[in-house]
Amino acid sequence: MKRHTSSYYIKGILDHDRVILSQSITLIESTKASDQLLAQEIITGCLPYTGKSIRIGITGVPGVGKSTFIESFGTYLTSIHKKIAVLAVDPTSQDSKGSILGDKTRMDKLSVNPNAYIRPSASGNTLGGVAQKTQETVLLCEAAGYDVILIETVGVGQSEIEVKHLTDFFLLLMIAGAGDELQGIKRGIMEMADAILINKAEGDNLPKAKLAKREYKNAIHLFPPKESGWIAQVELCSAIKQEGIKETWNMIDSFVNTTSINGFFEKNRKRQNMYWFEQRLKEEIITRFKADKENSLLIEELKNELNKGNITPFEASRILFERQ
Ligand code: GDP
Repeated sequence: MKRHTSSYYIKGILDHDRVILSQSITLIESTKASDQLLAQEIITGCLPYTGKSIRIGITGVPGVGKSTFIESFGTYLTSIHKKIAVLAVDPTSQDSKGSILGDKTRMDKLSVNPNAYIRPSASGNTLGGVAQKTQETVLLCEAAGYDVILIETVGVGQSEIEVKHLTDFFLLLMIAGAGDELQGIKRGIMEMADAILINKAEGDNLPKAKLAKREYKNAIHLFPPKESGWIAQVELCSAIKQEGIKETWNMIDSFVNTTSINGFFEKNRKRQNMYWFEQRLKEEIITRFKADKENSLLIEELKNELNKGNITPFEASRILFERQ
């Protein structure tokens, strides 16, 4: 890809040019130092035009219907004149087996909708790194005029926590009667959710879905109240039949209203910024520290000693830092 000046990319993004937006995201994802620098200039240039979207995290185990839901939900949003971007944080995309999420072919209608932008998952060495790139991608999508940003993740654990730091509203998709009621979803993830949607609630499945709704409602009653002042909702939907889709959006809208009035919305965004700053700082400090040849040699030596059981982890880090 040919490189241009940062103002070329900034202008393109602000003009809502999808090709230039995609090229800029590729720069964010690049590991080349010169690309990183260019990406930072682009983000800084776009910053005044960011922050106006609603950022929604969507999670659930594979097969629960995430992509079908996003297809229906996204199509509905475009019908009420919203522009939507779909991003994915996918811990599996780092290996050669490829990605579970963010695959354009999973959302046929949405991927050809001019008011929707789908970006497959970023890859990176660490989940934190992938999530950070996603955070920067969110900013560019906002500058490019997207009103709603959906960030999808598989419901397996750590990636949800990262996505929680990226989003305003966290949606957990479940299905009823799949044996284990918790379907491998950890209690912590349920606790993070602002809403639990029981998908595939149609036909013969409806009574089971209603029962599950009652059970989940009871379960979340036992969780501590949320700082946002919002009480997590449990609702039914059928992504395939497009039922419960509009209601989901109305619920999110009402969440945004409630938390804007009580001040949580802004406070949470500021706190998330602080979180990413701290993450970035840690990463930078570690990278620079290890870039020093003597440090990295000593680290290797200490790891050896640690393996042999000659030293404790605390002692090893003390020795390293006493050298500075
Ligand atoms: P994901 O892995 O969570 O993204 O799940 P998919 O969206 O790929 O859906 C998995 C399967 O469930 C597919 O065969 C879908 O057609 C089906 N599915 C998704 N939503 C519904 C629904 O609301 N009702 C029914 N009956 N099937 C659905």
